[in-house]
Amino acid sequence: MEPFVPQLVYIEPRALEYPLGQELKQKFEDMGLEIRETTSHNQVRGIPGDNELQQYRNAKSTLVVGIRKTLKFDTSKPSAEYAIPLATGCMGHCHYCYLQTTLGSKPYIRTYVNLDEIFEQAEKYMEERKPEITRFEAACTSDIVGIDHLTHSLKRAIEYFGESEYGQLRFVTKFHHVDHLLDAKHNGKTRFRFSINSRYVIKNFEPGTSSFDERLEAARKVAGAGYPLGFIVAPIYRHEGWEEGYRELFERLHQSLDGVNLDDITFELIQHRFTKPAKKVIMKRYPKTKLEMDEEKRKYKWGRYGIGKYVYQTEEASQLETSIREYIHEFFPKAEIQYFT
Ligand code: SF4
Repeated sequence: MEPFVPQLVYIEPRALEYPLGQELKQKFEDMGLEIRETTSHNQVRGIPGDNELQQYRNAKSTLVVGIRKTLKFDTSKPSAEYAIPLATGCMGHCHYCYLQTTLGSKPYIRTYVNLDEIFEQAEKYMEERKPEITRFEAACTSDIVGIDHLTHSLKRAIEYFGESEYGQLRFVTKFHHVDHLLDAKHNGKTRFRFSINSRYVIKNFEPGTSSFDERLEAARKVAGAGYPLGFIVAPIYRHEGWEEGYRELFERLHQSLDGVNLDDITFELIQHRFTKPAKKVIMKRYPKTKLEMDEEKRKYKWGRYGIGKYVYQTEEASQLETSIREYIHEFFPKAEIQYFT
């Protein structure tokens, strides 16, 4: 999979007041990309496409260079205390992705150039909680690694937290373009996680992302650069033959990590869920998807903002959890399983 290159770039004028904004403008000009000006991302107009679906696809390869105005960070349980906003949106096309509903009609990718202001805000949160460690999740609203070869803002964040006393950074990715992050001075404060899944899930639901083997090769490089390593298995999905499919996943993972120190590896486990609004959007954008979203078969769980989600029935969820915990214990006896949700 080639690294992401936007088809179209919008730049907010205020972004040019920041060095990174100017740098990116220059870079995209040198790359020969089409650049348009926009007063604010809400004013992004004229994304090409004859119909909604085409516009959606084109938006996913459109990059908006802007500034982050809201400096109040969202919480990010259970993986971290706060979500640090470095970017929103993603060029991947995972059918189940929750960004489809959270980003609504604005699926383009936005990168923020006022990094110092974002880091100052992070500092305030750390100050409030110290001497407790505060963890920041950088992949709540995007797959940040997938665009960072262009912006290097994640690299700056890694080095920022590398210097901090009470802060830690974490993020997850399905992309393998990690080379520029290998020499970042992380000081062990960043946990670099990769999203992994059974062959069935990757093949059917994750178009536009790096293959399993590419992700694993990147994981080896990252471990070689001394980063604490982790894996998120999400969404855990009950497809036909899921038991064998997930066992094989951990077996392959174990083989691929031959030679990597496995003492400090973490796993996070997230079962598949969907909301009613998400189902509607997914059916529109990926009408041929095989993703099973039958409300009748699921358990309803009340959620934030009054939008409940459909998870597996208690018994089915517990089968998933038990089996996957067993596979992890079998192949990674020293790993920490941080949660199943
Ligand atoms: S890679 Fe992650 S953020 Fe991007 S579409 Fe897939 S699930 Fe969504």
